[in-house]
Amino acid sequence: MAIVGEATWLTKPKPTAGPLDAIVRPTVLAPCSSDTHVLHGGSGPKEDLILGHEAIGIIDSVGKEVKNFKKGDKVVVPCVTPDWLAPGVQNSKSFSHDTRVMGSFKFLGSKDGTMAEFFHVNHADANLAKLPDDVSEEAALMTTDMMSTGFHAAELADVSYGDSILVIGIGPVGLMAVAASALRGAGRIIAVGTRPICVAVAKDYGATDIISYKEGDIAEQVMKLTNGRGVDKTIIAGGGADSLSTAILATREMGIIASVNFYDINDKLSIPTLAWGLGMSHKDIRCGFCPGGGERIRRMLELISNGRIDPTKLITHKFYGFDQIPAAFDLMDKKSPDLIKPIVYIDKTPNKV
Ligand code: NAP
Ligand code: ZN
Repeated sequence: MAIVGEATWLTKPKPTAGPLDAIVRPTVLAPCSSDTHVLHGGSGPKEDLILGHEAIGIIDSVGKEVKNFKKGDKVVVPCVTPDWLAPGVQNSKSFSHDTRVMGSFKFLGSKDGTMAEFFHVNHADANLAKLPDDVSEEAALMTTDMMSTGFHAAELADVSYGDSILVIGIGPVGLMAVAASALRGAGRIIAVGTRPICVAVAKDYGATDIISYKEGDIAEQVMKLTNGRGVDKTIIAGGGADSLSTAILATREMGIIASVNFYDINDKLSIPTLAWGLGMSHKDIRCGFCPGGGERIRRMLELISNGRIDPTKLITHKFYGFDQIPAAFDLMDKKSPDLIKPIVYIDKTPNKV
């Protein structure tokens, strides 16, 4: 479904697999904040684009060069599917920018997404992961973007033992950043958000303090909590263009600011120069994008199957049936107070789950 400004059903031919590719039929999928940003034109004009980039599915067909997957396999599809032959992949660790900035984000970026009867996956051998028997479809679905992106925020921030961490935004991405920070040995984790359900899950994943951005300046509240020292590292996973200057104000010298936030094409970001040590503070600003590929997802699935994390705490709403995709999407767009993440089972009914 979808075009900019209006989400509606589109009719398109069934995609076909090139020699290295696969065609997948989704069995469970989820809308994401990024789909809603695209719908509202936040990433520029788009037309006749099928939305969606988070899905688990069954392989419908594979190209003749695909070795590790076959028709009927249950697969976990990362939201970022690089062209593994591109120079941007060979030169980097993040695999996010294969032929151009964010070029590895094929769904929404350069082709139709996963909210369809069938969707196309490039470089199937490198981009798909098998669904393990001991991981539920809904837990695996959370690895495709929310867990991978939230964990990348903690990677970018280089979270280390005893670090004090500020996480701005505790939607599903920020919540996964909280969980990842705790797994990587953070000490204090200060989380910023207001929705009660998110606050409860943030505490569950390891947040030690909660700040409401509606009850005063975030940086001032952080300074109060840390006796004027600031935090070692700040992760930005929510808020608008102000979040970067807030992070610089709240982070101590030699700290790290790690953003996985989406900024609108019209946003202008600013740096408060005094808090940035007039350019000499060694406050490192790192902005990144979810890394891609099946091997990363396999590692995320390992964390789940070994009981290190339960990402299903993010799932607050379940829909059943292909025709319920618009309802789930609408919920994601409007963000009701009790929402973290909605998912849609394509061919299950409530009593069969
Ligand atoms: P979300 O559900 O909209 O959550 C946003 C969070 O930010 C909420 O906790 C919200 O608080 C908080 N917030 C809102 N306004 C704020 C403000 N002025 N100051 C501080 N916090 C504020 O978003 P999400 O799905 O978790 O995604 C987070 C961001 O990551 C989005 O920008 C999304 O597009 C981006 N993203 C990036 C990647 C990537 O690879 N880089 C991948 C996926 C998503 P409340 O509790 O009040 O709602
Ligand atoms: Zn997403």
